Amino acid sequence: MAKSASKSRWGVFLTLVMLPLAAAALAVYVGVLRVPPNVVPWGDIDLEQPPGPFARMQINGLVQSPQACFIALAGSSLEYRRIADRPVRDGCGFPNGVVVERSNVPYSSGFSASCPLAAALYVYERQLRELARSHLGSDLARINHVGTYACRNVNGATAGRRSQHATANAIDISGFTLADGRRISVLRDWGTDTPAGRFLADVRDEGCGLFNTVLGPEYNDRHQDHFHLDLGRFRICR
Ligand SMILES: [Zn+2]
Repeated sequence: MAKSASKSRWGVFLTLVMLPLAAAALAVYVGVLRVPPNVVPWGDIDLEQPPGPFARMQINGLVQSPQACFIALAGSSLEYRRIADRPVRDGCGFPNGVVVERSNVPYSSGFSASCPLAAALYVYERQLRELARSHLGSDLARINHVGTYACRNVNGATAGRRSQHATANAIDISGFTLADGRRISVLRDWGTDTPAGRFLADVRDEGCGLFNTVLGPEYNDRHQDHFHLDLGRFRICR
C-alpha cells in the first residue's frame, strides 16, 4: 500500500514538474520558445546585451572559434581594425588580432588585442560603468591601462612560460577616471574602506565572471598597482 502511494506521488511529480520542464527546455533549445540572448549556455554571445550567467563560458567559446569571435565583434558598436596575423614565434605573436580604436568607454591609449580579449573587454565595460554609477555616483570616463601585448614571460621572469601578454590575450588595468574628474587607482584605493575601495573589489569580482585569470593586489606584490585580466587556460581569481 505504502509502496504504491509513493509510486503515484512520483508519477504526479513527473507529470506536473519534470515533463513540463523538459518540454520547455526542448522548446528553448529548438528555438520554438525565444529567450533573451545570453541567458542560455549555448549560442554565441551577443555583445550588445547584458551578460548572463554563462558569460565566461561564452567568451571561451570565442577563444575556440575565431570566426564566431569576429561575428560577435561585428555585431557590436566597437570600432576596431583587424590586423594581419602575427605568426607565433618563440611563444610571441598573435593571430586573429585587432586594434581597438574606440569603444563605449575610452581607454587611456589604443591597443592591440586578441579578438576574444577585445570582446570580453567590451562586455566588461558595461559592468564597469554600472559599478561606477552605483558605488561612486558617476559614469566612467576612461579605463587606464598599462598594456596588452608584450613579448615576455610570466612576471617578467627571464625563464619560465610565456605570459598571456605575449599573445595579446591579457590586459593590465591600473585604474579609472570618472566623468566628474575623480581618479580611482588600484595602488591607492584597493583594500580601503571607501566607495572607491568597494568599487575596486567589485571590479575584480565581476572580472572573474568574464576572464579566466584575474590577478590583483591580493595575488602578489607585482600586482599591487593593477589588475591583470587574461583569457588563458588557468582559472585564478585573486
Ligand atoms: Zn598582466
